[in-house]
Amino acid sequence: MSFFLSGLRASNTKTVKHLKKIPEGSHQHDMMKHAAATLGSGNLKLAVQLPDGEDLNEWIAVNTVDFFNQINMLYGTITAHCTTESCPVMSAGPKYEYHWADGTTVKKPIKCSAPKYIDYLMTWVQEQLDDENIFPSKIGVSFPRNFITIAKTILKRLFRVYAHVYHAHFQHVIDLTEEAHLNTSFKHFIYFVHEFNLIEKRELSPMQELIEKMMR
Ligand code: ZN
Repeated sequence: MSFFLSGLRASNTKTVKHLKKIPEGSHQHDMMKHAAATLGSGNLKLAVQLPDGEDLNEWIAVNTVDFFNQINMLYGTITAHCTTESCPVMSAGPKYEYHWADGTTVKKPIKCSAPKYIDYLMTWVQEQLDDENIFPSKIGVSFPRNFITIAKTILKRLFRVYAHVYHAHFQHVIDLTEEAHLNTSFKHFIYFVHEFNLIEKRELSPMQELIEKMMR
C-alpha cells in the first residue's frame, strides 16, 4: 500500500497489477517514511529533493515504485469505465495517440485500445520493478549503470496513464470523489520528474496546461 494513497477508499481500490512492496525495516522503507513525512508538510518542492546523504539512484527507485503503486490504484478505480468500447485507442486528448512497443520484445508499435495498452504498460513496468538486476532490494547490491535511463523510460510511460485518466476519465474520477487524490499524486509526480529532469518536455505536452498551473 502506498504511503501517499493510504486514504484511498477501500471500496474503490481494485488494482490492476500487484502493488510492489518495499519491505518494512529496510533502508528504502525508511526513505519512503521520510518522503511521506515531508509530503505531509505540503511543500512539494522540498519533498521531492534528494535527502541529505542519500543515493540518487535509490531515491529515484523508491519514488518510481511508489508512483507505480499510486497509478495502479488510481487507474484501478476507473477500470470499469475504460473499455475497448469507450477507449478504442490509447489517447491523451484528441491530439495524442499512443501505440504500444517496449523496444525489446515488441519492436513494431501495436495500435490497441487504452485498457490493452495500459495492461501492456503496467505489466512491462512491473517486470522492471521486479527485476533484482534493475531494482535491487538487497543492501550492498548496486544499481545498474544505466539505471537512470531505465527509470526515465518507466516514468515517461507511467505519465501516459495519468494523461489518459485526465483526458478520458476525469468525470469518472470526480464521480468517485477521487480527484483530490489524482491531483495530489500527479502534482507530486510532476514535481519529482521536474526536479531530476526525468521526462522530456515534449512528452509532457498532453498535460502542459495543467502542469503549468501546478508548477506556478
Ligand atoms: Zn480509458
